[in-house]
This record gives sequence, structure tokens and C-alpha cells, in this order.
Amino acid sequence: VFDVLVVGGGPAGAAAAIYAARKGIRTGVASERFGGQVLDTMSIENFISVPHTEGPRFAAQLEAHVREYDVDIMNLQRAKSLSQDADGVTTIELESGASVRGRTVVLATGARWRQMGVPGEDQYRNKGVAYCPHCDGPLFKGKRVAVIGGGNSGVEAAIDLAGLVAHVTLIEFDSQLRADEVLQRKLRSLPNVRIITSAQTTEVLGDGKRVNGLVYRDRVGGDSHRVELEGVFVQIGLLPNTEWLKDAIELSPRGEIVVDAAGRTSLPGVFAAGDATTVPYKQIVIAMGEGAKAALSAFDHLIRSSSP
Ligand code: FAD
Repeated sequence: VFDVLVVGGGPAGAAAAIYAARKGIRTGVASERFGGQVLDTMSIENFISVPHTEGPRFAAQLEAHVREYDVDIMNLQRAKSLSQDADGVTTIELESGASVRGRTVVLATGARWRQMGVPGEDQYRNKGVAYCPHCDGPLFKGKRVAVIGGGNSGVEAAIDLAGLVAHVTLIEFDSQLRADEVLQRKLRSLPNVRIITSAQTTEVLGDGKRVNGLVYRDRVGGDSHRVELEGVFVQIGLLPNTEWLKDAIELSPRGEIVVDAAGRTSLPGVFAAGDATTVPYKQIVIAMGEGAKAALSAFDHLIRSSSP
């Protein structure tokens, strides 16, 4: 039985593992893919104190840092359910058929961006197709971009990007935007934004190296149109990797693990951190801080629980 069992090996899980291991307690990390979303990131320029790095390099450093400690890393392990015994020990059942147990658990299974699933999207990922305006917005300074999605995150992204880029085209599938009225009003007041509704993006175009346009179909008239641009920000939802937890702990309507300010979930002894939780702003620096916090909360729980 681990004292702290971390599920997920992204920035949040790595930080939790290091903070737990530094307390000299038995720490394990079970994760499907150590590194998490960082592995899919090209350049990282907003991890404070590191002006520039690359995703795969950053992920390798995360793992190397965890390996400096006595942490049991169980890679390529996907968790499929969580249950708790009467004595408070939590069992995580893995897809492999094995199970692992922890006196405390830190859930850090992260999230994934919903994709459009159109031709060109995968091919030009990180070559003009982006998912995170806070991360990649500055790379498009002075260029033309589209934002796909007219919900709160899409409209917020469009407002944010309009201050950085030359022009923003916001493309919404529905006949109207779904964002809060105050955001819509702000968006409509900006001179370099065009809003297109009832539009289905059907293809991302490029020259083989980078994005140079997109095609959308007018869902009313039925005809297709081409927009010339250099970037496409896809903002149609961030899906937390928490489907496997829905019967075990409290999730928000969006599927995020509900945590309090100390990273506690609805189950005593089970903590959570990072993109999988209700904590806003999904960023590496935030996930790491939350992971450290969840591990310290787990340690606090251990020293207060009666079993030795
Ligand atoms: P994740 O990184 O998602 O890690 C989750 C971990 O859990 C992974 O190890 C995964 O394999 C594992 N896992 C998932 N489900 C299970 C399961 N059932 N069982 C076991 N393990 C599981 N942020 C920045 O701050 N700066 C940037 O420049 C930046 N650029 C980005 C670019 C891209 C393309 C993307 C996709 C994201 C970017 N982000 C950036 C966001 C950042 O990567 C995330 O906020 C951060 O990785 C979240 O960390 P996390 O540990 O919570 O989750």
C-alpha cells in the first residue's frame, strides 16, 4: 500500500509525486503516458523562470526530476475505477487487470482538447492549428487567425487574440453565439473581429508546412467559403479525463473533479490537481502548484489519520 498514490504523470502528477516523496513516505505514480499533454506541445514560453523550452524536453525533465526520488513509476497503466474500503484505503483498478492501493490518492489525469475531426487539423497541429490561446497566442502576433467555437472559451479567446493578432474570424456552428452576453458585447465592439455563425468548418488548408486557410460550409445556404489566415484556434471544449470516476467522486456538470482550496475531493483521503479539476485556467504552472498542494494535503491527512 502506498502512502500517496498519484494517478497521472503530467505536470500536476509529477509535482505531487516529488512533494510526497520529499516527505519520506511511500509514493507511487500510475500513468498512461508520463509527461501528459506537454508531450504534444511544441514550444513552452510561459513556464516562469524558463524563458523557452520544448514540450518533449520539458516532459523528459519532469520524469528525470521525479526519478531523483524514491518514487515507484508505473508507466503505461490506465486507471479504470476507484473504490474505498471501510478502513479508508483507496484501490485503483487498472485496465491491465492489476490494482494498486493508497492510504491517500492524488488524481491528476488531466484533460484533452476536443478536436474538430476535419482534414488538415492533425496534419497542421502545432503548425498553425492551436488549442491554447494563453500558450500560443503570442506566436501569431500580427497574423490572421480563426477561432472555432462561440461558447465562453471561444469568445474569450477571440477577445484575447484580437489584442495580439491582426484579425480574428470567429466561426460558430450554431445560428448564434452561446457565450455570456457581456462577452459577446465586448467581442462585437472590437474592430478587427468578424463573426460568422451557422458555419461548419470542413477543412484546414496549408502549404504542406503551415496553415494558410480554412474552409467552412454555410449551413443555411449550403455553399463553401475559404478564409485566408495563418492560424486556427480550436475552442470547442476541454474534456477532463474523468469518465472512470463518475460513480466514485463528485464531478462538476462538465466532468471536472470538484476540489476545495486544499485540493480535497468529495472522498476523504482522495485529492486531485491540475486540468482534471474545477480549478480554472488550465496551464502547466498552475497544474504544478495544484499538484504540490494536493500532495501536502495528502500528507496532512496521513499525519492526522489514526492508523500508524
Ligand atoms: P496532463 O498533462 O493532461 O496529464 C495527465 C496525465 O494523466 C498523463 O500522464 C495521462 O497519460 C494520465 N492519464 C489520463 N487518464 C488516465 C487514466 N485513466 N489512468 C492513468 N493515467 C491517466 N500550458 C502552459 O502552461 N504553456 C503552454 O505553452 C502550453 N501549451 C500547450 C499546448 C498544447 C498543444 C496542449 C494540448 C496543452 C498546452 N498547455 C500549455 C496546457 C498544459 O499542457 C496543461 O495545462 C498541463 O499539461 C496539465 O497538466 P496535468 O498534469 O493536469 O494534466
